[in-house]
Amino acid sequence: MLERVPLLEKSLADYADVAGEDTIERIRAAAAPLKGARILHVNATAYGGGVAELLATHVPLLRDLGIEAEWQVIHGSDEFFAITKHVHNALQGAAIEWTNEMQRIYLEKVLDNALLLEGTYDYVVIHDPQPAALLAMAGSTSINGPSTKWIWRCHIDLTDANQEVWEFFRPYVEQHDASVWTMPEFVPASLSMDRIVQAPPCIDPLSVKNLDLPEPFMREIVKQYGINPDRPLLCQVSRYDPWKDPLGVIEAYRIVKQEIPDVQLVLAGSMATDDPEGFQVWEEVDEARHGDHDIHLLSNIQQVGNVQINAFQRAAEVVIQKSLREGFGLTVSEGLWKGRPVIGGRAGGITLQIDHGENGYLVDSVEECAQYSIDLLRDPERATEMGESGKEHVRKNFLSTRELEDWVGLFTSLTG
Ligand code: UDP
Repeated sequence: MLERVPLLEKSLADYADVAGEDTIERIRAAAAPLKGARILHVNATAYGGGVAELLATHVPLLRDLGIEAEWQVIHGSDEFFAITKHVHNALQGAAIEWTNEMQRIYLEKVLDNALLLEGTYDYVVIHDPQPAALLAMAGSTSINGPSTKWIWRCHIDLTDANQEVWEFFRPYVEQHDASVWTMPEFVPASLSMDRIVQAPPCIDPLSVKNLDLPEPFMREIVKQYGINPDRPLLCQVSRYDPWKDPLGVIEAYRIVKQEIPDVQLVLAGSMATDDPEGFQVWEEVDEARHGDHDIHLLSNIQQVGNVQINAFQRAAEVVIQKSLREGFGLTVSEGLWKGRPVIGGRAGGITLQIDHGENGYLVDSVEECAQYSIDLLRDPERATEMGESGKEHVRKNFLSTRELEDWVGLFTSLTG
């Protein structure tokens, strides 16, 4: 069997306060025909990054609906994850060399994983490219029963995908019964499938990362990391990945610092097991810091977990997500949900979440990021108004309940 991810229990009823009783009832009614269905989600990492974040809530909520849902992760090797990170970059538009050797290593490792698949399922949901060839490799094993529906969930933006790499993956993807995307714009024109569905991700308002944190508690947490809660703070929470542009955030911070000398910056990023590039980027970012004590470079290695992320996002006057490419960018909704205005790179799913000038700003350059940060730090009332509007936007569009409803609809429609 693949490694099974242990999960907390969650109850849909607890979401009534934030999402409304009617939403909960609607979801329960829609999910009634799925009672007892077996659903398996497969991805590449149990922690770090948005997919792990989503599944940690989605799978327990499916269980609460009476569905036998599970989450398993594929195993890899440093070599395999180095290749899949190249693939990830290539699918987001980077030029890479896609050699026969890389393809061989990729397929062999997926085959190893396919041989570990056990059990029978009504639905198998494969997340992102790392396990995309599992269905092809599963062949006629028991997991691939005649009525099993396979769904590929793509969390990344394939608008400028490297064609050679995409053409390698396309036939594997097309074997699935449906694919699910964050935005219709991400779907390559060459993809031929009967069911192509849009269902953007969401945040869990009841997770430790997003729960309300009393201010004194928040202040104590940030102080433990050397951050002064009485001085202005900018915050970006992201894996250490060039597409998240941490160096650009430091450049923007430096411009802000000239106008607002008291400003501090926190860059918090966990190191995911499927992202070997993280350690290298961390070093580059550390170097770019030039020993500035007001730039707090943090990761899970310094015990930065969900509570700390929650505190940093709340302590910040402005949340930043200056991505150059982005699938969705959960951190944007996380910031907005905490009533903070968010400055985001004009990329992918960030544009779904930020309504420019209403709940934050979409930026195309370091200078714009700096200027909007200065404006917001100088006008706290406006920042508060924007944050409040952002919270409502997230409530309507990007909470776990909305995503759950989308998936329940998809599952029932595939067998209906
Ligand atoms: N995250 C975290 N700790 C960190 C860095 C990131 O918990 O140190 C979380 C972050 O809060 C968010 C997710 O990882 O929930 C990142 O998701 P996003 O969609 O923003 O980006 P991805 O990593 O999937 O590209």
